[in-house]
Amino acid sequence: MHPSHAAPNRPKGPKGTPAPFDHRYLSGDGDHDHDDVVYPATIPFLLVHLAAFGAIWTGVTLQAVAVGVALYFIRMWAITAGYHRYFSHRSYKTSRVFQFLLAFLGQTSAQRGVIWWAAVHRHHHRHSDTPEDVHSALHGGFWHSHVGWIFKPKRSRADYESVPDLTRYPELRFLERHPYFPAFLLAIGVYLWLGWVGLFVGFFCSTVVLYHGTFAINSLAHMTGNQRYLTGDQSRNSLFLALITLGEGWHNNHHAYQSSTRQGFRWWEIDITYYVLWAMSKVGLVWDLREPPPELVAGKQRLGRKVLEKAAQDLADSLPSPGITPGLREAWILTPTFVELASDFHGARVEAREQLAEILSVRTLPDLPSIDQLRQTIDELRHRADERLRQGADEIVQRVDVLRRRAEHARALLVERVGELQLPDLPSLEDLKAQAAARFRTAPSLDEIAERARELLIERLVARILDDPEMAGAWA
Ligand SMILES: [Zn+2]
Ligand SMILES: [Zn+2]
Repeated sequence: MHPSHAAPNRPKGPKGTPAPFDHRYLSGDGDHDHDDVVYPATIPFLLVHLAAFGAIWTGVTLQAVAVGVALYFIRMWAITAGYHRYFSHRSYKTSRVFQFLLAFLGQTSAQRGVIWWAAVHRHHHRHSDTPEDVHSALHGGFWHSHVGWIFKPKRSRADYESVPDLTRYPELRFLERHPYFPAFLLAIGVYLWLGWVGLFVGFFCSTVVLYHGTFAINSLAHMTGNQRYLTGDQSRNSLFLALITLGEGWHNNHHAYQSSTRQGFRWWEIDITYYVLWAMSKVGLVWDLREPPPELVAGKQRLGRKVLEKAAQDLADSLPSPGITPGLREAWILTPTFVELASDFHGARVEAREQLAEILSVRTLPDLPSIDQLRQTIDELRHRADERLRQGADEIVQRVDVLRRRAEHARALLVERVGELQLPDLPSLEDLKAQAAARFRTAPSLDEIAERARELLIERLVARILDDPEMAGAWA
């Protein structure tokens, strides 16, 4: 049922030191830098869907349906309590034996290995709804976020470096190397018990519905429902999704505080997964269930840096960017500091371009690099271990770096000075606070969001000024 893949030879570290971890040993994916539609890891997924049609041939019995429904909920519980809340987020503790059972039961869902799942999921939280997100409807639409990403090797490749807490267990690595073994055993068991109808209806149909129930959290839980907390992403709370996924539908709560065992934060937010875990904690099967901080639940905890930045960007994007007005032009010409700073900024960039041209052995670079391009080029140069470039390159790289810092400093000062001007189309801090309150309702840290949004608007204006050829005439 699963694609056979030979484990490559594990790299050996120096004597006495552990060998560096080789992800190929686990995934069998090899390196996929292309975007093939069908690659080995997608074949079981497709076959399970295909096999579900076997139900047309066998027909349906009440007993097989009952088994299918039971297997849906038992395995959904294993995915949410195991794959998600335990392995991906470590939101509670358990014994090594029970940890293995959770992983094994989770893998009867045929959703690939537990380590792969956790690694991909942690990546989702690190990059939620940014272009880097594995499955963001915002950046790829519903189908991409639901199943499309599975068919994109670049997207669905796991970073095994990000799950050292899981790869350290040999029994989990064993399961990872045989991702479909538990599902295969379950399928055989159901077949032996109920025959073909059990296999097709009880196992395959149930597994297909389970796929889409789980995937609805990747897709729908970022599209429909309410956003109680400002999380900087599109995660939402939905009772319907919470019912079909045993509690995962409180996805906005979850994005607000990932390491909580429960995802229903209010008493009426039904979270079956949590109720079962709570009961298990009473008999000592699991322990140290983590709770969300009360101030966070009440929506009063200050926002983290990342969320704050995203919210400020969002607010700034919703407003028209301030333009270069005649008043600003006048202030510009009348204030020597502006002209000096701008000319320092451009001077540093011109000089840096010459240095870069020298190191790259070209007569001149086609365009004046931006600060971001400069930084990128410097990083690339640092990483290039080219023998020819290495000699003397370090020195030039350092000089370019100094110039970059000079340019950045000049720009930062400009942002500060321009912010002090009374510009009619730059919203005041008070305006922005009102806008933030209207946009994010009762979210905490509204003042900070407004302050940062104003800074962003000024930064955008300064970038315009520095790019404006007419204003450039002031220092040319
Ligand atoms: Zn999410
Ligand atoms: Zn999560």
